[in-house]
Amino acid sequence: MPASFNPLIYGGLGAAAGLGLAWGGCVYAARWPGSRVFGDALVAPPRPGEIALTFDDGPNTAWTPRLLDILAGHEVRATFFLVGKFAQAEPALVRRIALEGHLIGNHSWSHPNLALAPAAKVYEELKRTSETLEQITGQAVRFFRPPFGARRPRVFHIARALGLLPVLWNAMTNDWEEPSADRIAERLIRRVDRLGPRGRSANIVLHDGSHRGQGANREPSVNAAWQLVAKYKHMHRFVTVREWEGS
Ligand SMILES: [Zn+2]
Repeated sequence: MPASFNPLIYGGLGAAAGLGLAWGGCVYAARWPGSRVFGDALVAPPRPGEIALTFDDGPNTAWTPRLLDILAGHEVRATFFLVGKFAQAEPALVRRIALEGHLIGNHSWSHPNLALAPAAKVYEELKRTSETLEQITGQAVRFFRPPFGARRPRVFHIARALGLLPVLWNAMTNDWEEPSADRIAERLIRRVDRLGPRGRSANIVLHDGSHRGQGANREPSVNAAWQLVAKYKHMHRFVTVREWEGS
């Protein structure tokens, strides 16, 4: 379990959001409202009743298609933070994610610990991934989740310079190593149910892939996602993190 995060809300992005791909490097970042506070990131706004399902480390040919079937069956839209090199290898699957109405975010090219990487490497990892995803889907990439949650000001600064808004989370369990879907769902439901009374929406992380390579068995995570959708779809609203920008 990572340390729990302060639910910081990154505000004041309205003006910058409209600029989309007008990437101007650090000059642009310096003009960005709020860019003085490099530690800020989007977590979850004070909108109890909303849930963002977010999936990291895909696309994974073994389990992402099944997950997409489940989400489509319930008309739920989710956010997928994709690893650039996997996206490049599986463009058809990336296009399917986008075509089915899900939001695609940047999860770096090769999933290194960016907190330990030199600035030039961080820049390359993020830029190459955004460019690849944009080439495949034709859509601008706006959101970034740091691999391993490496939320260093320097990493966030570089992300912002590339027009990317860092996204963290407030509900996670060790789904990548837990064989029981029931236990994954149970733990996440406990977290989600604690967030509501505190006036928070839920930003849930699950893994449909593995940064170690293609083909990882993510059946427990995918089935846990199905359980969450089944439990909450009537009383909560499933959103992508795009709907939270600027809130
Ligand atoms: Zn990851």
